[in-house]
Amino acid sequence: MAVYLCEVCGMSLGDITCGTCGKTLEHDVIVTDEGEEISVSKCSEGHGMIKSPMCCGQDMKRIDD
Ligand SMILES: [Zn+2]
Ligand SMILES: [Zn+2]
Repeated sequence: MAVYLCEVCGMSLGDITCGTCGKTLEHDVIVTDEGEEISVSKCSEGHGMIKSPMCCGQDMKRIDD
């Protein structure tokens, strides 16, 4: 189980799963052409990726337990 937590306001978000296979999305970081690092959540089966959730103007911190 992994949750996303906003360190500013304390809001938390539950697991994000792939709608195709149901697996929990894995955290990854991609680098744009401008050299900016972007946190993403992607399906380990290759079904795609989404940008990691944001709150209060910053990426929410992922917590695995
Ligand atoms: Zn927040
Ligand atoms: Zn998938």
